[in-house]
Amino acid sequence: MELFDALVVGGGPAGSALSTLLARRGRRVLLLEKEEFPRFHIGESLLPGTVPLLDRLGVGDAIRSAGFLEKHAAEFVTGDGDLYRRYPFAEGVVDGYPHAFEVDRAEFDSLLLENARNSGVVVRQGVCAEDADFDDPGSVRLAARDSSGAVIRFAARFLVDASGQDSFLARRMRSRRMDPSLKHVAVFSHYDGAQRGSGKAEGDITIVLVPGGWWWVIPLSGGRTSVGLVGPATMLAGCKPDETFFLERLSETPYLARRFSDATRVAPVRAASDYSYTNDRYAGDRWLLAGDAAGFVDPVFSTGVHLGLEGAFRAADCLDRALSRDRLGASSFRAYERWLGKALRVYADFVRGFYRPEFAEVMMYPSDRLQLRQAVTSVLSGYAVGYPAVTWRVAIFKAITRLNRKHRLTPRIRGRREAVSYLGARV
Ligand SMILES: Cc1cc2nc3c(=O)[nH]c(=O)nc-3n(C[C@H](O)[C@H](O)[C@H](O)COP(=O)(O)OP(=O)(O)OC[C@H]3O[C@@H](n4cnc5c(N)ncnc54)[C@H](O)[C@@H]3O)c2cc1C
Repeated sequence: MELFDALVVGGGPAGSALSTLLARRGRRVLLLEKEEFPRFHIGESLLPGTVPLLDRLGVGDAIRSAGFLEKHAAEFVTGDGDLYRRYPFAEGVVDGYPHAFEVDRAEFDSLLLENARNSGVVVRQGVCAEDADFDDPGSVRLAARDSSGAVIRFAARFLVDASGQDSFLARRMRSRRMDPSLKHVAVFSHYDGAQRGSGKAEGDITIVLVPGGWWWVIPLSGGRTSVGLVGPATMLAGCKPDETFFLERLSETPYLARRFSDATRVAPVRAASDYSYTNDRYAGDRWLLAGDAAGFVDPVFSTGVHLGLEGAFRAADCLDRALSRDRLGASSFRAYERWLGKALRVYADFVRGFYRPEFAEVMMYPSDRLQLRQAVTSVLSGYAVGYPAVTWRVAIFKAITRLNRKHRLTPRIRGRREAVSYLGARV
């Protein structure tokens, strides 16, 4: 049996990026993906900070020529459509990349996986990892099943779990920790012909604030639009997250009813459990977790793909060094673990804030003093961790939101304070 340097479970953005980076450094990498690509995946809105990472991976040009819509700003609007705030990425406090892309994930993920293959990664699709055995001190043994049902066995010096929310390894180790304050569900679909902005605003993501949750509206190329509702599991109030529930909520939100009045639904209504979670550890003896398999933060700020890719770069650096020294224990991955823990904390903290009315109100009425609005723009662009110019301003921004809870520093958003907050407390 061939002994690979690394075996990667999962061919999403995190798995294919990490494999690519290792293979480019001469490592022998096997990637197992249980689906056959292209396959549907939710998570279509990228961040500007991700684009330079795609360039470094060697797929920037392919992404630019794939015809994905450019995304120049994130906008927030109340459900009645009365209050509106646009955060153009070019106005951030960090001089970062000025735009991102709204992507069809089937196509985007296929481009990344193809890039891995072209970089020398051995890619096996339709093969589902089922069990991992760490008993042999020199290798990890993995049992997988192919689409015919046959069991196949592999061996590698190191195992990377990039299996997304399936969390292949973390579930076996029972190390996943759910965030009780962000127990959410998502219900979503795709439409043709929904209204959208023009010019640079065409690809803006819109976050629609409603008392029981929030909606995303993501314009895609070819006139298609992704639209989904996210909120606490309690918002279902005994209903199933099905078509009836989705269509009723959409039609009772005036802003969306207007935007989708002439649109045709072209996809089934799907639901996803959207719980945020982290893990006790992100690496151990001969294993590490990458992307969603390591941790997931509620998608309101579209951080998933970005964290998966940035994490892949950091993990690949540690892993390549560890393979060279043949020191494949947890201590070789401290830098990766520290960064990932911090990134997940920083974004989860910002997300929890968003679910509080006093925080959302300050976002809807941001101040340019001390460039606070520009700092929030940088967070929305993916430049939240490791940028001191952002960190201290965000600390002030959050202090203002706390003050805004009791003192009326901003106008109130109608309906939001009356609603039970997403955190389950009446405010
Ligand atoms: C409702 C919702 C909306 C979102 N919106 C956004 C957004 O707008 N922008 C954004 O950046 N992120 C968004 N995300 C998050 C984003 O989808 C993920 O963070 C991202 O896909 C993570 O990439 P990954 O490579 O870690 O995992 P994935 O993309 O999930 O890839 C994991 C892969 O592993 C494979 N796999 C799983 N188990 C096995 C196994 N046992 N054997 C072999 N293969 C296996 C799967 O088939 C899959 O292809 C959203 C998430 C949700 C739930």
